[in-house]
Amino acid sequence: MTRLATAPHLARRFRLARVLLVLLLAVVTARCVSRVAPRPPAPAPRPDHAVTLRVEVGTGVDRKLRTLSLEEYVRGSVPAEMPINTDDALGGPLARLQAILARTYALANRGRHRSEGFDLCSSTHCQVYVPAATQGAAVARVVADAVADTHGMIITSGNGPIEALFHADCGGHTSSATAVWGGPSPDYLAGVPDAFCVTEARNHWRLALGRDHLRRMLNTDTETTVGGRLDDVSITHRDATGRATQMEIRGQERRLVRATQFRAVITRQLGARAFRSTFFRVETSPDGFEFTGQGFGHGVGLCQTGAIVRVRAGSTVEQILDHYYPGTWLERYSTMD
Ligand SMILES: [Zn+2]
Ligand SMILES: [Zn+2]
Repeated sequence: MTRLATAPHLARRFRLARVLLVLLLAVVTARCVSRVAPRPPAPAPRPDHAVTLRVEVGTGVDRKLRTLSLEEYVRGSVPAEMPINTDDALGGPLARLQAILARTYALANRGRHRSEGFDLCSSTHCQVYVPAATQGAAVARVVADAVADTHGMIITSGNGPIEALFHADCGGHTSSATAVWGGPSPDYLAGVPDAFCVTEARNHWRLALGRDHLRRMLNTDTETTVGGRLDDVSITHRDATGRATQMEIRGQERRLVRATQFRAVITRQLGARAFRSTFFRVETSPDGFEFTGQGFGHGVGLCQTGAIVRVRAGSTVEQILDHYYPGTWLERYSTMD
């Protein structure tokens, strides 16, 4: 009886204990669960914007080093290197073309100024860069769309980004990098004919320099110094396309110099537009020298004037790149890691 009499009482106690135990377990479990650290996310493929560049912006007291994502850098470089007209249909394809060039060039030349503590300068030495915030709204929109459309896209010949050299106007034939600067040159920079840029009126240029004016300019560089007298300037070698590659300067001293060096000495003092290319002739008169030429820029790689005329004529971005960099193709660079 006792057993029977005590059984309901014990059963109530057991039920109460069980409920308490369940509650205790629930609380402990909840605390344990809340203490489990969240699992780290699976490593994602490296996003394109992870590539950053240290860019030198401005000069003198305004000089700053900025860390930019690659795509942000491209947005600032496109309209600084290619005239983007927003009034017609050319702006979009030209911005896409220049975005691919800017991105490819930046990746191939990252670290060009490593010894100075940054990757790229923002002058023509590397590639012109102007912060996107300073662009007009219409241009900024076209450029932003073009950069997004070509996101991560680079030109390659199977071994990473190519040296996507470009210039304003080749004057009728692009030159090989070897002819212009010496040294080896990849196949895609061997030089190609260009019948498109020569249709533009601004293709021709002329510069007349007094004898003493030229002598003083030449004397500012150790490679072209002639001393107190300048007698003659002549072209001694041209490449297969007709571009001057070597020149002779005769005066108190006699110099043989690369035509690019001769041009650089003059443009350093008169600006790049004064002596536009090494695709020129020189005529001597008693007063001085007259240089007449074609094109604008070093002449290696893509000719921007030719590319603009090709876009106008209906060529695609891929066709244009294929012409100026034969044997190359487009690729998303992030897939090459
Ligand atoms: Zn530079
Ligand atoms: Zn051209």
